[in-house]
Amino acid sequence: MDTVSPTFGPVPSRRLGRSLGINNVPPKTCSYSCIYCQLGWTPTMGVERRTFYRPEEVMDAVRAQVREALRRGEEVDHLTFVPDGEPTLDLNLGAEILALKELGVPIAVITNASLVGRDDVREDLSAANWVSLKVDAVSEAVWRRINRPHRDLSLTSILAGIRKFSRTFGGILVTETMLASGVNDHAEELHRIADFLGEVRPRVAYLAVPTRPPAEPGVEPPPGERLVAAFSILSAQLSHVELLIGYEGDAFAASGDARRDLLSIVAVHPMREGAVRKLLARDGAGGEVVEELVATGTIVEIEYRGHRFYVRALPGRRQRTEERGDATG
Ligand code: SF4
Repeated sequence: MDTVSPTFGPVPSRRLGRSLGINNVPPKTCSYSCIYCQLGWTPTMGVERRTFYRPEEVMDAVRAQVREALRRGEEVDHLTFVPDGEPTLDLNLGAEILALKELGVPIAVITNASLVGRDDVREDLSAANWVSLKVDAVSEAVWRRINRPHRDLSLTSILAGIRKFSRTFGGILVTETMLASGVNDHAEELHRIADFLGEVRPRVAYLAVPTRPPAEPGVEPPPGERLVAAFSILSAQLSHVELLIGYEGDAFAASGDARRDLLSIVAVHPMREGAVRKLLARDGAGGEVVEELVATGTIVEIEYRGHRFYVRALPGRRQRTEERGDATG
């Protein structure tokens, strides 16, 4: 059994506020070896649930970290299971969630969903307040190509497990779909994903792109027009779709600062030209704000189906630990 059970943060997360991360499995213990994983390829893949750390050890580490954060005057909005691997491989996940509830902080789990076909895993997750499930593909070939699953996993069982979980879970369920250029960003797969997510009805369906060095060279975010297409295909089935492209943002509040307002919105979803014009008018600004942001490469202009959209340019490929809570798992 390993003897360290690290926690980290709290770090700012757009989805979870100030999130204190819990690393409940040893580094790169996973059932997938995703081509875009920022942690590199998975040396030893597994699907057996095990005890990696003693649950008391995890709880003591979290309690100490929360105490320390509060002593520094920092708030903790969520305790988040977001290890460098797959959190549901931890046999004690459910017991840890239940025990941590005594701290009175909502509990989040970011999982790749590969084990959600199992009754015990769904039961463990049901104790959390917020759960993010990975849905990168719903076609067998695309799933194998992007997630490179352990050979004992079955996509049919995973998708059935996600459906079941979505029907019974009482907390906030979101999904995360990582788009890789030329792999799962074509219209056919996106329509299938959209149909599936339409059944699952997540509170928010997040579309992410690889923004940090991936496990496999050559894995790239989709070009702008495909990102806009993906957003539009999912939005046709789902009431709330958001981009997760590496920016924290306080979306949708008109603060009177046109530049800031525009940036915070286009980091979350592509915005049509007409909507941009209205936003600028509300803030008493003109088109020069957009021109400057396009000229400096801060936002990009994309033509899609006869309309012009604006979206935040992707950040550079750099390691940003403060974003960990929003992109792994
Ligand atoms: S991205 Fe997440 S699920 Fe995929 S290999 Fe990395 S840790 Fe595992």
